[in-house]
Amino acid sequence: MRRSRFVWSQRFRLPVECRVLPAAGLLLAAAALAPFQAAAQAPRGLGADSPLESGVGQSAADRVHDAIHVVYGFGNTFQVDTPDGRVIVDTSGVQRAARARELLDAVSNRPVRYVILTHGHGDHTGGLGAWVEPGTEIVAQAGFAEFLHYQARLAGFFGRRNAAQFGLPVPPERPWAGNFGATVPATILFEKEHAFALGGLEFQLLHTPGETPDHLTVWLPQYKAAFIGDNYYESFPNMYTLRGTRPRWALEYVAAIDSVLALGPEILLPSHGRPIHGNAAITTALTRYRDAILHVHDAVVAGMNAGKDVFTLMREIRLPAELDVGEGYGNLIWSIRGIYEGYAGWFDGNPSTMYDEPPAAVYPEAVSLAGGPDTISARAAVLLAEGQPVRALHLADMALAADAGHRGALEVRIAALEALRARSVNSNERGWLDHGIRSARQRLASAGD
Ligand SMILES: [Zn+2]
Repeated sequence: MRRSRFVWSQRFRLPVECRVLPAAGLLLAAAALAPFQAAAQAPRGLGADSPLESGVGQSAADRVHDAIHVVYGFGNTFQVDTPDGRVIVDTSGVQRAARARELLDAVSNRPVRYVILTHGHGDHTGGLGAWVEPGTEIVAQAGFAEFLHYQARLAGFFGRRNAAQFGLPVPPERPWAGNFGATVPATILFEKEHAFALGGLEFQLLHTPGETPDHLTVWLPQYKAAFIGDNYYESFPNMYTLRGTRPRWALEYVAAIDSVLALGPEILLPSHGRPIHGNAAITTALTRYRDAILHVHDAVVAGMNAGKDVFTLMREIRLPAELDVGEGYGNLIWSIRGIYEGYAGWFDGNPSTMYDEPPAAVYPEAVSLAGGPDTISARAAVLLAEGQPVRALHLADMALAADAGHRGALEVRIAALEALRARSVNSNERGWLDHGIRSARQRLASAGD
């Protein structure tokens, strides 16, 4: 078949073409995740709190519009069919790509003329190899190159963090690629806007940074369809990711959403979750999302200007009920801290934190003064029983700083992590709690009896 294996280093050189168009009109990560289970049923797991399950079980592409179909996944793959060939928007991760292609080929077997990547995260770019044919143009925003370099520059760091968060084996160490070592598979890069037509259909691409600096939106004016990528999904945005990210600017999300609202879309196609139909429903959803982000941003800024510390703001700031967009993927407290530290960096104004010895440096001494790790672990168990699992975790950390294999401290640590997991509604939080539980159990096993 025409399905070509994509070889990053051979088939593409660095941007073959870089066009900066004059004004013309107008979200690794994860790659390797849940195994695809074929079954003749509706796709499941489209909720934001179970992203790895997205689309598992989908047996046929979903029709969004006569010319637009979607295969759900982590993330979604969209196909726009025209008389002169197909345009693909996002390619999901590598594991889901062959299946997405199979389901979309069943809708149209015309050549793949363009692949548009909304941004450089692996759950959007990983499946590229399944789609590239001779002559296929790969379109991304100009910041895509630096974003791929950033991910490659920190590949060892992100590899460990992703392995922890998603319960995967730590990838083998590879030689450092250097600061600019990524291969950039785009054939067309643009700065602010880019437009092309295929088969009588106009495609307008806008730079809309938010989830990432290189994020773009695809607008089909004839169908009033906006592909919004990861700048909208069914959860508060993951404005700070626990696997590590540089700041994602709240006001950029706001501007990105405003620019999509201004288009007047009748179809909104997010790269995670289901499309939304009808301008009224889209306007309601996007306005609420934007206002939720702005509410949190402005509350953080007001708190910073009033001299409040970040932890106070993490406890104080809440969304009013009408702006509660859910926290199944992104989370309010991490975003509050992300905004605060995105603006101010890590220093909290206390001179004792300026130096290279953290509070944990004195944990063993404090444990000894308190009577030893048994006493501290016992108190942690009491706090846990009283419904204070985070404080119990901190005390367990202190005991473990004094005795890394302390059985009671490891047991209370596991119990506290399990209590937090039982009440969690957030997939990223659950990933890290599971990692903590696995690690503590391993330490407990190697501590022996
Ligand atoms: Zn994504």
